[in-house]
Order: sequence, then structure tokens, then C-alpha cells
Amino acid sequence: MTTSPAFTFERQGIEMRFRRAALAERVWLTPSYVRVRLRGDELRGFTSLGDDDHIRIFFPDGDPESVEELRAAPNREYTPFAWGDDWLELEFAVHGDDGVAAPWAATAPLGSVAGVGGPRGSKVLVGRPDAWFLAGDETALPAIRRYVRAMDDAAVGRIVIEVADADADHEPAIDAPAGVAVEHVHRGGGAPASALTARLESLGTPDRPAGDVLGFIAAEQAIVRPGRALLLDRWNLDAAGVTVKGYWKRGETEYHAPH
Ligand SMILES: Cc1cc2nc3c(=O)[nH]c(=O)nc-3n(C[C@H](O)[C@H](O)[C@H](O)COP(=O)(O)OP(=O)(O)OC[C@H]3O[C@@H](n4cnc5c(N)ncnc54)[C@H](O)[C@@H]3O)c2cc1C
Repeated sequence: MTTSPAFTFERQGIEMRFRRAALAERVWLTPSYVRVRLRGDELRGFTSLGDDDHIRIFFPDGDPESVEELRAAPNREYTPFAWGDDWLELEFAVHGDDGVAAPWAATAPLGSVAGVGGPRGSKVLVGRPDAWFLAGDETALPAIRRYVRAMDDAAVGRIVIEVADADADHEPAIDAPAGVAVEHVHRGGGAPASALTARLESLGTPDRPAGDVLGFIAAEQAIVRPGRALLLDRWNLDAAGVTVKGYWKRGETEYHAPH
């Protein structure tokens, strides 16, 4: 007899909208991780139903006169972290002076214009996973924090986050239920995703949580192979409940992750 899974992901399309907003607030959570609040009337009605949804943020130079001009600006993918009436919060890993998005998040003057495209569709969590396994680097933290918001007090599982080093100031807090162990691993001088890879490779079949496990792993692209090896090969999780994604690629500007 087959029993139905404890949870599923339902795909839900949503009308694609493009909105103009402005940088309203910036709060540094660690020296290399910043939460940014965008504000604007066009954000009214914004919603994001999937915890690992992504939207495209457009970073114009100056104040574009037309939607077309705004849409032509450089853009990158981000996770909507929180939103309300006329505001939207995003969290940015600030990885240096390279690129467009990270420097904008770190230094753009308050009032700077940004465009927000999407989300285009969502994977909506329905039901209650028996256990959770969430792992990633700083770029996956907004999605991981959203999954944590979806947990109830009795949730069990493990969260592994790769950060730069063991300085407690560089470890953004995750307020998970007591049954969900949170650990940080440290890149040190190693390549991005190397510490997380080593941790994933240290987990074997006996470490598999029982039942229907929600697995989410996102970090630098090198994480994809060891992530799939753990969740799909060694733990034999149902692929329908598993997401493993490269969120960026070392040395590559504007990396487009396969969706
Ligand atoms: C579905 C999805 C959701 C995402 N959500 C978030 C999110 O919520 N928050 C977030 O911070 N990021 C998130 N990312 C990752 C983000 O889109 C990339 O890191 C993006 O490349 C940053 O753009 P940039 O303009 O700063 O750098 P780019 O111009 O794209 O790259 C310039 C250089 O910086 C390097 N680089 C890019 N990102 C990093 C990094 N994190 N650390 C070190 N070097 C880097 C590149 O390899 C390249 O050499 C998400 C990605 C995807 C696919």
C-alpha cells in the first residue's frame, strides 16, 4: 500500500509584474551581509508564495525616465525575504567590490531607484515535512530563513550554513525550533562551497532523518554535485521534495542558474 507523502510542492503560476521602487533602509546584519528595504506604491500587492522564490532586481544608474529604461538596467536574482503594504525586504551577501548587486546593496544612496520583476511562479509547500535538511552559503540564507518561518515548534532537522570564518560576527543568527540543529562551517581560505561540501560528504546513510524529508541546498555552483549525492543517492530522498541549486558561480558575472 502506498501512503501519501507528508508534504508536496505545488507549482503555482503568478502574473508577472514589473515594479519600480526605491531604496528606503539598510541594516547591516554582519559586516558582509546587509538587509535592504525597498519602498514604493508599485510594491502594493506584491506576494511570494514559495519560500525559495526568486525575483529579478534591476539596478539602474540614476533615475530612469521610462519603464523600458529601468528594464534595460543590469539585474540579478534575489529571494524576497519579507514584504508588506508598500515595502519589500531583501538580504544581500556583500562579496566585495565586484559586480552590480552587492556594491549597490552596500553603498547606493537611500532613495536610489530599483526595479523588481517577478516572482514568475512559486513552489508552494503543502503539508508538513517529517524532517528538514537545509544547507547553503550566505546567498541561500533568505530562503533558509523563510523555510524556518514555515516550521512549527515541533519541527526536527538540521541546518548547515557556510560562512567566511569562525568570527561570531560573521554568523548570521537563525532562530530555528529546538529540534532543528543549526551549525556553521567556515570557508577560511578555501574555495567557496568547499567547507559545505566537506560537511555534506561527512554525512552518511545513518544520518538520514526518518520520514519524508524536505531537502534544500543552495550555494556556489560547486555544491550541486555533492548536494545531489547526499540527498538523492545516499539518503534516497524523493526528488520531488528536494531542491539543489547553484545560486552563483565563481568567476562568472550574472550567473544564470538553471530553474
Ligand atoms: C534563485 C536565486 C536566488 C538568490 N537569492 C539571493 C539572495 O537572496 N541573496 C543573495 O545575496 N544572493 C542571492 N542569489 C545570488 C546572487 O544572485 C548572485 O550572488 C549574484 O551573482 C550577485 O550579483 P553581483 O552583481 O553582486 O555579482 P556578479 O556581477 O554576478 O558577479 C561578479 C563577481 O562576483 C562573484 N560573486 C557573485 N556572487 C558572489 C558571492 N555571493 N560570493 C562571492 N563571490 C560572488 C562572481 O563569481 C563574479 O566573479 C540568488 C541566486 C539565485 C539563482
